[in-house]
Amino acid sequence: PAAEPKPPQEAQRPDHVKRVIAVASGKGGVGKSTVSTNLAVALAGLGLNVGLLDADVYGPSAPRMMGIDADPQFVDGKLQPLEAHSVKVMSIGFMVDEGAPMIWRGPMASSAVRQMVQDVRWGTEAAPLDVLVVDLPPGTGDIHLTLVQKLAVDGVVIVSTPQEIALIDARRAAAMFQKTATPILGVIENMAFFADPATGAPIPIFGSGGAKAEAAALGVPVLAEIPIEIAVREAGDNGAPIVTRDQGGAAAEAFRAAARAL
Ligand code: ADP
Repeated sequence: PAAEPKPPQEAQRPDHVKRVIAVASGKGGVGKSTVSTNLAVALAGLGLNVGLLDADVYGPSAPRMMGIDADPQFVDGKLQPLEAHSVKVMSIGFMVDEGAPMIWRGPMASSAVRQMVQDVRWGTEAAPLDVLVVDLPPGTGDIHLTLVQKLAVDGVVIVSTPQEIALIDARRAAAMFQKTATPILGVIENMAFFADPATGAPIPIFGSGGAKAEAAALGVPVLAEIPIEIAVREAGDNGAPIVTRDQGGAAAEAFRAAARAL
C-alpha cells in the first residue's frame, strides 16, 4: 500500500442526515446489497426516515433490488431521491441502462459517490433523514477512502459468508475502517446455513463459525446470521426485499433483529 489513509478530520456530514451507516464486504457476491436493501427497509419499518445510497458504482444493484425504474429529477438545484418501500434511494444505476458498461477511473468514481451524497436532497430541515445506509463496492478502494475521509460515516457493518476466503477479505476491509477510525458496528454473516427442507437441520454450505470468530477478534457483535433461502434471492430479483413480507421467514426475522440492533 502506498500511503496510510488519514483519519477523517475534514469529514463533512451531509445536510439533514443524522446518521450514516455503511455496509461493506471484502468480496463481491457475499450479499452486501441484499443486506443493505433489507436493513434499509427494516429500519424504515421501525418508523425511521431512511435513505439508501448505492455507492457500488461498478455494479449498482439498488434499482433492481428495490424495484425502481425511473429517472431522478433535479428540484431547486438538488437531485430528488426516488422512493420505494418507504426508503429514499439514489443509485448511479438510475442514470444508465442495465447492461451499459460502468467504466470509472478512481477519482471519477469517488466524485460520483460524493455527488450522490451531497447533491441529493436526502433530508430536509422539516424531515431530516434518520439513517443513510450506504451500500459500498466490495473491497477497499477510492470510494471507501472518500466516504470515510470526506463524509462522516458513523459506523460500518461488515458482511461476510462463513467461508475462509471471504473472511480473509472481510478482515482486510475491517482493518481499513479501523485505520481510518471508523467504528465497526458488527458483522453480518450471510449465507450462514441452509435449512434442510426435510428436517430443518442447518446445512453449513459455506462452513460455520468463522464469522463469529472474526467478530470476536474485532471485538464487535455478530448482528445477524442470515440463512440461504430461495425467497431471499427471489425477493431481491423481484424488487421487493424479503423484509417487505410479513411472513418472510427466518432470514427476514434476522434482518429485522439486526436493524433493531443498529
Ligand atoms: P453483493 O452485493 O455482495 O455482490 P448480492 O447482495 O448482490 O451480493 O448477492 C449476490 C446474490 O446472492 C444475489 O443474487 C442475491 O439475491 C443472492 N443472495 C444474497 N444473500 C442471499 C441469501 N441469504 N439467500 C439466498 N440468496 C442470497
